[in-house]
Amino acid sequence: MMIEERIIAIRQELPPDVKLVAVSKFHPVEAIREAYAAGQRVFGENRPQEFFRKVQEVAAWKVHEVPRNEVEWHFIGHLQTNKLKLVLPYAQLVQSVDSQHLLDAIQDWGKANGRVVNVLLELHIGAEQTKTGFKEEEVLDILFRADKYKNVRFCGLMGMATHTDSEADIRADFARIADFRAYLQDLFPELTDFRELSIGMSGDWRIALDYGATIVRIGTAIFGERQY
Ligand SMILES: *Cc1c(COP(=O)(O)O)cnc(C)c1O
Repeated sequence: MMIEERIIAIRQELPPDVKLVAVSKFHPVEAIREAYAAGQRVFGENRPQEFFRKVQEVAAWKVHEVPRNEVEWHFIGHLQTNKLKLVLPYAQLVQSVDSQHLLDAIQDWGKANGRVVNVLLELHIGAEQTKTGFKEEEVLDILFRADKYKNVRFCGLMGMATHTDSEADIRADFARIADFRAYLQDLFPELTDFRELSIGMSGDWRIALDYGATIVRIGTAIFGERQY
């Protein structure tokens, strides 16, 4: 199947209010163009330099082809604080805030640049120790101090389930993050933007829908295998 067909097929299964982020990392900008032709407007990248380069290339498309600001970029990877300027001016959502240090740096950048940065807090839900993300108590600690982060908008949680063939394990991971989001929404009703639940990738997005995913991040099932 072609990129266009794959996107159309996924869209048909997604509820209309679930945002599809096409994860174009490691794929050329021509692949983004094909996805764009299929109506896809939201793209995710996980490396700052590649993110920056693709944002510039897509922005250089002729304006009659791509009206200004129509493409939405999400950053979904590990972000070092010395790379913020490659990402924050262009990202509509930083999905992968995974440390206090990064959050503080984003706040400082937002203040210095007169911007409010939309973020998701990444919750560590998978079994792998190598995966990044906060523990539940760390997220709580941050949100209790949310009003200190005047230049950060807390939009919800992101998580990656355990990489496994066991559907039961994946369901347990998604249930945990979905329950935690509900708990946080009860605890912090003043955080009215805290709505998003970004769960589900190529292998598990259908399962993620059962747990109330509002954003799915799909790479391989749209663009094919990545060439590292
Ligand atoms: C690469 C990546 C994805 C997409 O993974 P696929 O399995 O190719 O769909 C989703 N989320 C994050 C955080 C990623 O790094």
